[in-house]
Amino acid sequence: MKLLVTNIQRFSLHDGPGIRTTVFLKGCTLHCPWCCNPENIQPRKQYYYQKKKCIAANGSCAYGDCPFAISTDVKTGLSRLTRQQFLQCKSGALGEYGEWYEPAELVKEVMRDAPFWGDDGGVTFSGGEPLMQMDALEPALALLKRCGVNLCAETALYVPTSAVLKAMKYFDKLFVDVKLLDKNRARSVLGGDLELYLENLHTVLESGVSVSLRHPLIKGYTDDIATERAIHELLTHYPSCEYQILSEHHLGDEKRLSVGDVCKGD
Ligand code: SF4
Repeated sequence: MKLLVTNIQRFSLHDGPGIRTTVFLKGCTLHCPWCCNPENIQPRKQYYYQKKKCIAANGSCAYGDCPFAISTDVKTGLSRLTRQQFLQCKSGALGEYGEWYEPAELVKEVMRDAPFWGDDGGVTFSGGEPLMQMDALEPALALLKRCGVNLCAETALYVPTSAVLKAMKYFDKLFVDVKLLDKNRARSVLGGDLELYLENLHTVLESGVSVSLRHPLIKGYTDDIATERAIHELLTHYPSCEYQILSEHHLGDEKRLSVGDVCKGD
């Protein structure tokens, strides 16, 4: 099995202890309206279009026939774009998110950074939802573990419990999102099953694995008193659990535009 990777980010300083290499895996089980990596939601390779690099003028393009010469509507253009048209564009306006890696190939790639990790650093798997690709991820984790690499994951835990149980065998630390703790809002806003999340969350919190809860504070979605109270209650039960608030930002906006309207709630 192969892993669908969008990006390997070197010298990451905010994705776990020390200096790390962060691997972004493509595909997510949720569709949070505030997603900062919207290019990682779809679990497949995906074209993108960046208008600022497009050289088309007056309805035509020097590189040949292309839907974006006629219209810059991203969703429509990407749905009509052929492989040949994609390949003929040399302006950099068109690109593709997602590259397949064999697990061993990915390990070889990230191990190039090992001299920079020092005593605390290592590799963090993020996404998307990294545990969604657990079957292909497990051989890579096993190889990295054998090399003594510190492993972290950034996960929302809206995945089958079997994937979480496998993950706990390898990860030294989990950064777990805590977004909404109301069943109906979790379903309508995120598209997730809150009961599954809570079952997985209690499983990891009781396992002894180091967990840091991350609460993205998003105006109108996750900043209400009921959510704060529910998180407070949760933390009262697990006082050793770290808790971080992540402030709202718009770093994903450009990528969101580049793939068309992929997030429900926009
Ligand atoms: S081929 Fe590239 S530069 Fe030309 S219209 Fe298409 S996206 Fe724009």
